[in-house]
Amino acid sequence: MESQALIAQPPREVFLNGVPASKGIASGTIYVFERSKITLHSHDQAVNDLNAEIERLHLALKRSEKELEKIALITEQKIGKAHSEIFTAQIMMLHDELFIRTIEQRIREERRSAEMIASEEITKYQQAMLAANEDLFRERVDDFQDLKERIIRNLRSGQIISRIPERSIVISTMLTPADVILFSRQQMLGCATESGGATSHAALICQSLGVPMVVGLHDIAEKVRTGEMILIDGYDGNVVLHPSPETLALYERKAKRKLTALSAGLTKSETKTACGRRIYIYSNIDFKEELPSLEKFGSEGVGLFRSETLFIAGGDTPSEEEQTDYYRQIAAELAPRPFTVRLFDVGGDKFLFASYKEANPNLGWRGVRILLDIPELLENQLRALLRANQHGNIQVMIPMVSSVEEVRAVKKVLSKVESDLRKQKLLAKQPFMLGAMIEVPSAVEMIEELAQELEFFSIGTNDLMQYTVAVDRNNEVVQSLYNRVHPALVRMIARIIKAARKYRRRVSMCGEMAANALVTPLLLGLGLREFSVASSNIPEIKHVISRTHLSDAKDLAAQCLKLATASEIEQTLRTFKAHYQL
Ligand code: PEP
Ligand code: MG
Repeated sequence: MESQALIAQPPREVFLNGVPASKGIASGTIYVFERSKITLHSHDQAVNDLNAEIERLHLALKRSEKELEKIALITEQKIGKAHSEIFTAQIMMLHDELFIRTIEQRIREERRSAEMIASEEITKYQQAMLAANEDLFRERVDDFQDLKERIIRNLRSGQIISRIPERSIVISTMLTPADVILFSRQQMLGCATESGGATSHAALICQSLGVPMVVGLHDIAEKVRTGEMILIDGYDGNVVLHPSPETLALYERKAKRKLTALSAGLTKSETKTACGRRIYIYSNIDFKEELPSLEKFGSEGVGLFRSETLFIAGGDTPSEEEQTDYYRQIAAELAPRPFTVRLFDVGGDKFLFASYKEANPNLGWRGVRILLDIPELLENQLRALLRANQHGNIQVMIPMVSSVEEVRAVKKVLSKVESDLRKQKLLAKQPFMLGAMIEVPSAVEMIEELAQELEFFSIGTNDLMQYTVAVDRNNEVVQSLYNRVHPALVRMIARIIKAARKYRRRVSMCGEMAANALVTPLLLGLGLREFSVASSNIPEIKHVISRTHLSDAKDLAAQCLKLATASEIEQTLRTFKAHYQL
């Protein structure tokens, strides 16, 4: 007995679950990347030679710029110009006169070190981003953290950490886009972090590099040691520490299955269920730079273009001409495939005016409410879309509809704009189809009346979930309530599809639920025939569709519609998935 106890036992497997941020499966040895901490000591504060301090600042800014230029170049070579712009944006900040002048002035006035002041100034930008109450901005806070650490390290003449053991899996509290690019040169196999969102720049770069990533793993950097074995599943957000041979084999099979789905010509062929019913999968896009990913993943068009990103890209309200050009380019590239543009969904958790604040933005001035209150905004966008519709493939949907009146009001503006354009001989081809996002419970309640006003629906489960279950989609504290297959939501989806069928209206789903492969058979069973997801999700969804028989899916839907809890539905979906080996 005693001698047995002396034999070293293999370490026990530990299963952790985070948020999937970049697809793929990787296993290997851990490299724990410790970010150099920016500790600002009180001795930083006494500055006597002010000119020397300002010279030191400029030297550090210059060095930082050189580093970033190099990283931008590597990025461009590896994954293209669009991504390298993350770093060009940081370089621009290093040239920002206001930023530099403020630091210089404060050094002179406060006689404190460049480290202290630069750090405080960048922190101000970070706080403004956090306060923007918009995911896209919050996640950019990490980019500023990178810039801050870079400037401070260069002020101290510190060395950049860019070399890690080859083919490691990097674990860290957080990773910046620059870290990911530099580590990819040592063929980083995968990475996992405590913080960071699935749409952060670091995650987007991992996706383009094909490096699996899982984020949101609390305390992981403390739980692991460099050299230990780990497995990362970027499809479902699973992480296994000290994986057993059985677990490794299991995941190897999963990786193969995913790859087969990709390579089995699925991307090229039409999407059909196992029983031959044609299904359509479109892409959700935010920028035109994403169009190449449609070809790569075999998308059939754009099911959701979040046009409000035009504000974010330019900062100001985009003019009618700018919009016409932008829409025209995308529509031409996609034709004859559909280009579904959602009218500006600004406000709420989405950026509009930096100065405008509300106590409860998600229930406030947002989407169609803003469009109707600022007629010029709506008219310009509708004019641009009508002018851009040269190929007849543009379709337009109204965001955040909560009443029939709103739809009628938009239609009134549309017919006025249309007749103006006709008189001016600027009308491109034919009027576009008008639809609405169904993402507010009152719209579900009024779905039959809405079907009589509109030509199509797109189900926005992200907001529909938020408003139905009363969970803030951006509040981490209640995320466990948000990411569920709630029976109320399932019943609402069934109702929307039923009404759409009754009035022969098309209906698709562009919320995240459409990209959840576990739910795909249920959605098919409920009658959904059009999906719109981020392009990289298409192969997986297509694979599940191609293995599902509609008769089984219908039985599954009937069963789920009777269940009372999210756990029961999720368990039923898991059993279905295991049974049919999806
Ligand atoms: C949704 O609400 O489901 C949706 C697709 O729109 P967004 O995430 O942009 O609010
Ligand atoms: Mg929405």
